[in-house]
Amino acid sequence: MRDSFDREIHYLRVSLTDRCNFRCVYCMPEKGVVFHPHAHHLSDEELLRVIRIMSTLGFDRVRLTGGEPTVRPNLVPIVEAIAAMPNIKEIAMTTNALRLEKIAEPLARAGLNRVNISIDTLDAERFTKITRFGKLEAVWRGILAAERAGLTPIKLNSVIVRGYNEQDIIDLARLTLEHAWDMRFIEMMPLGSIADFQVESIVTADEMKARVQDAFGELLPLEWNGHDPARPYRLQGGQGTLGFISSVSAPFCEGCDRVRLTSDGRLRLCLLRDDEVELLQPIRDGASDAELRELIARGVYNKPWGHGLGDNIIAESRIMSQIGG
Ligand code: SAM
Ligand code: SF4
Repeated sequence: MRDSFDREIHYLRVSLTDRCNFRCVYCMPEKGVVFHPHAHHLSDEELLRVIRIMSTLGFDRVRLTGGEPTVRPNLVPIVEAIAAMPNIKEIAMTTNALRLEKIAEPLARAGLNRVNISIDTLDAERFTKITRFGKLEAVWRGILAAERAGLTPIKLNSVIVRGYNEQDIIDLARLTLEHAWDMRFIEMMPLGSIADFQVESIVTADEMKARVQDAFGELLPLEWNGHDPARPYRLQGGQGTLGFISSVSAPFCEGCDRVRLTSDGRLRLCLLRDDEVELLQPIRDGASDAELRELIARGVYNKPWGHGLGDNIIAESRIMSQIGG
């Protein structure tokens, strides 16, 4: 369906949980995170009902995210149920990969098409510092398991944070020489209670690209589909691709094709704006499919044009782990 700015909106990002087994410095505060009580989360049945209704509105791509989606119970049957919906063309998942070694294969069998994996450094010590709980080795095994299971093309996401991992861009970019992986460097976005840290420690996409070019020479630009937030490049002789996601310094709101469903049952219309449509309560009050469809369609039509970072407007109601990136 189209929104009031005539953008075609057909991509749904579903946050399966606000819980996570990491505490990445750019995403969650170390302490004091208040999780939504389980009773305030969409049940599996409610979640699948919303996705099914949205699929009849033209949503044909679904991405599972979180928090950490792999900590949601029943993940495999959830994937299976989404894959069985006739209008859904693609199911992907964004994960920290800690649990992926065990479940990549069952997820692929259930109908998951591909994964984006967050990995911010190849240095084990710095990995634990930036994720606070993370173990690099397990994540690496998760990436290889995903590749073996055919969850390809593998995309890797790195958020670059001043003072934590800006030096690691080079080793991460080098991975694309040997592997047919898509490596994407992400500008840190400010949200919620840790916005001050995020603003202070941002590394811009231009700086990231300059660092890569200093080490490897001019990047070869590749064809871009206009919707992916990262324009793709290749290193000379590389097998995979590189991208730089400049949400803050050069937003790409005109190509936006997505909305987000939070685990507490709200449709979030723009990642960096607090406008949301409440769905959980109407569902529990007995709304019919037609009524929910109307609520969702009206919300999507009214999707805001873009974020307000240029005017110093920072969305405050949620941190990133409560939306899903
Ligand atoms: N736990 C999963 C993971 O880390 O891949 C999925 C959820 S996480 C919120 C989704 C994506 O958001 C990850 O790629 C993560 O690196 C990114 N992210 C988290 N906080 C961010 C921030 N402040 N700015 C930009 N990206 C962020
Ligand atoms: Fe967890 Fe992902 Fe946020 Fe890291 S980025 S704390 S893995 S939700």
